[in-house]
Amino acid sequence: MSIKANLIEIKNTFTDPNCKLIAVSKTKPAELIMEAYEAGVRDFGENKVQEMVEKAEKLPKDIRWHMIGHLQRNKVKYMAEFVHLIHGVDSLKLLKEINKQAIKVNRTINCLLQVHIAEEDSKFGFDEKELLDMLAGEVIHELKNVKIIGLMGMATFTENQIQVEKEFAGLKSLKDKLSQSQLPENFDLQELSMGMTGDYLIAQKQGSTMVRIGTAIFGERDYN
Ligand SMILES: *Cc1c(COP(=O)(O)O)cnc(C)c1O
Repeated sequence: MSIKANLIEIKNTFTDPNCKLIAVSKTKPAELIMEAYEAGVRDFGENKVQEMVEKAEKLPKDIRWHMIGHLQRNKVKYMAEFVHLIHGVDSLKLLKEINKQAIKVNRTINCLLQVHIAEEDSKFGFDEKELLDMLAGEVIHELKNVKIIGLMGMATFTENQIQVEKEFAGLKSLKDKLSQSQLPENFDLQELSMGMTGDYLIAQKQGSTMVRIGTAIFGERDYN
């Protein structure tokens, strides 16, 4: 099937037509990204800074680039000028660095805080206490060149749909709880980035506003 046909098929399954689709193009060449672009996609997700920078240089300038992977602080500077949204912010240190680089390029960079919702230890993110501690501190208020527009989470990789549903529901209720509390001025929690190829329908049911889909659009990734 073509990328365009895949996109149509995926969109047809959406139970929330307002949910945004981020096409995860990591490891995929520019030609395939252009096929999705021609089919109307403007939001693309990458998990490696260098790969995203290289693609952004040669592809159309109206693409919105989403950094979805684990981000190292020393890489932020390479994408500060153009990145649309950073999904995986998992520490105050990283947020401070994003703020610093945003000042240099005279931007406000939109970010999502990644929350650890999965059972596995390997998935990055804040736990609820760490997040509340950060919110209670002083430093967060000083970061005027970042804007926290939502939360991001990855569910456990499991066949157990009930568990996945619970994890996503937990993230949604955390967002609702935070939204009802007194938040720093640089917070405006709108987005919930949750759901990938295997679990995006469950995520939409639990209130996802952004799904990050790679395999169902572009096919399996080849990591050789
Ligand atoms: C790779 C990746 C995705 C997309 O995964 P698929 O299963 O191919 O849809 C989504 N989110 C993150 C953070 C990823 O690294």
